[in-house]
Amino acid sequence: MQNLTGKVAVITGGASGIGRAMATRFVADGMTVVIADIEQVPLDATADELGVTGICTDVTKADSVEALAATVMERFGAVHLLCNNAGVGGGGAISGLSLADWRWVIDVNLWGVVHGLHFFLPHLLANADGGHIVNTASMAGLTAWPGIGPYNATKYAVVGISETLAIELQSTSVGVSVLCPGLVNTNIFTSQRNRPEELRNDEPNLAARVTNEQMLRELAIDPAKVADLVATAVMTNQFWILTHPEMVQTVDERHQRITNAARLL
Ligand code: NAD
Repeated sequence: MQNLTGKVAVITGGASGIGRAMATRFVADGMTVVIADIEQVPLDATADELGVTGICTDVTKADSVEALAATVMERFGAVHLLCNNAGVGGGGAISGLSLADWRWVIDVNLWGVVHGLHFFLPHLLANADGGHIVNTASMAGLTAWPGIGPYNATKYAVVGISETLAIELQSTSVGVSVLCPGLVNTNIFTSQRNRPEELRNDEPNLAARVTNEQMLRELAIDPAKVADLVATAVMTNQFWILTHPEMVQTVDERHQRITNAARLL
């Protein structure tokens, strides 16, 4: 997809943060943009502001994503760019997590991506003029950090799925990228706002609260910068999209530990 103009993009989690920034950038590139999000009020506000289509969608539910794909195909006739971006951050040491903590993060961050691929990939593959998929993982998909076990698990999974998909689609006209940002200044710190009632903890999980939000926000980069990197990656068919070069050393160190373990054999 060397040229974005006139193509159709669908962005999950498009009402806020990185998804919203991607929508803004793709509109500037002349794309027809659909944002899909579970949060109706910001979805409508963002859609109005950017002049794009907003469709309320819960990526954890297969029938909701199936309906999204059907509506987009009916209204626009094609989808060229799918950004599987909706995601939530949940925290706390593994020893203190409830099953609901795991289920919620896995439902959104992993099943959301699976549902997007399942219902949109056939349409992308059917395009005469190609397509591209961007899966939003994280630097937490490349190295582990304490206190974000479920998040780490889902982001490693998204990296794995994306790598498999890129190999499988090698001889097609559909490209694949995996976005692995470091800290970005978005609303991820208040992800609990979208947690469904049935997956809330009976007791508030104190560890799951982000206590150092202000500090994290100061370290975080502007989502518009991430969106520019994504647009370039789509147009140049670049698989890895990294945003924080200074964090890559942690990945090198992890790989070195794996290589060292093999040398002991
Ligand atoms: P954000 O909270 O600003 O945006 C996430 C969007 O996803 C929100 O609009 C939210 O309503 C939506 N969403 C949540 N649950 C949903 C569901 N079930 N169905 C549909 N939409 C749902 O956060 P963000 O930082 O922009 O997050 C976007 C992606 O970037 C996520 O996958 C996140 O894991 C990833 N990411 C973020 C950072 C960061 O520092 N902000 C770093 C690495 C990766």
